[in-house]
Amino acid sequence: MNPIVGLHHVTAIASNPQQNLDFYTEVLGLRLVKRTVNFDDPGTYHFYFGDDTGTPGTILTFFPWPHARRGTPGAGEVSHTAFSIPAGSVEYWHERLTQKGVLVERTGKRFGGREEVLTLADPDGMKLELVAYMDVPELTPARYADVPAEHAIRGFFGVTMLHRELAPTEGALNLLGFVKVAEEGSRVRFRSPDGAVLGNQIDVVVDPNAGWGRPGAGSVHHIAFRNQDDAAQAEWHEKVAPHLGVTPVQDRQYFHSIYFREPGGVLFEMATDTPGFLYDEPVESLGEALKLPTWVEPQRALIEARVLPITMSQSSAQLNAASKKEEVQV
Ligand code: ZN
Repeated sequence: MNPIVGLHHVTAIASNPQQNLDFYTEVLGLRLVKRTVNFDDPGTYHFYFGDDTGTPGTILTFFPWPHARRGTPGAGEVSHTAFSIPAGSVEYWHERLTQKGVLVERTGKRFGGREEVLTLADPDGMKLELVAYMDVPELTPARYADVPAEHAIRGFFGVTMLHRELAPTEGALNLLGFVKVAEEGSRVRFRSPDGAVLGNQIDVVVDPNAGWGRPGAGSVHHIAFRNQDDAAQAEWHEKVAPHLGVTPVQDRQYFHSIYFREPGGVLFEMATDTPGFLYDEPVESLGEALKLPTWVEPQRALIEARVLPITMSQSSAQLNAASKKEEVQV
């Protein structure tokens, strides 16, 4: 059986789409690798941010609902989504975020000093962490971003879930091949022994007295684990189905997905690495046009009239315009 090697993507709820786009591209230096709509609610955008090509394990996605109310953080949810940064990049990120007016907290070191953590919130209050450690994976940074390559975000470190009790969620993680590898205070870390470095840290913080979270803008909607391909997903479907209610396979255009809820309340997905984000547009202009699957395409005019227009400050069009200007000056 093909092991799960880590997270494929994390999907969260946002409010204003332009604000969301600007924060993740201009502040964090990720690339908008796909601009599409929520296939279950086609009047809403679905943005995918990632590294240069949208490598599985780097992809943070959003449903921006312009009038969404903020969620209330609490138990039964993903509380923090963590990105990897190189060990020497803490000062760079602290300064960059501060200069851009983002409140950032030096959370300190975890697990014997192996990891140094910066904590911040996105414009909708979603809690993010930048985790600096040795041996970050090499990745291709977003081509139009202004973050120097040596400091660029390397994809997901992992996520932290807040739960009132550990056992039910631990059982679900064990079923997926994740095992307990470390414990520090109320934080328990799970990892897939056959996993990649990318997105392979699933932490559970246990607080028996925590209030229940209520979803809204700034909340994580679900987390997705990687399946190598459709055959691997079919095997995992069979393995999970006797224990947790699993949906049939959903065609998400860039991957195929199954969903189930772990007993602690967090929605889990399994998503295939294939076919990926280069499926319907070239790498140079990823994310620049609204892409719709064939079954939603007939509604394009309606959708374009309904979603708020957005502008990208970093795109192939901007780059072409800038180089043309230079040519003229020469
Ligand atoms: Zn998903």
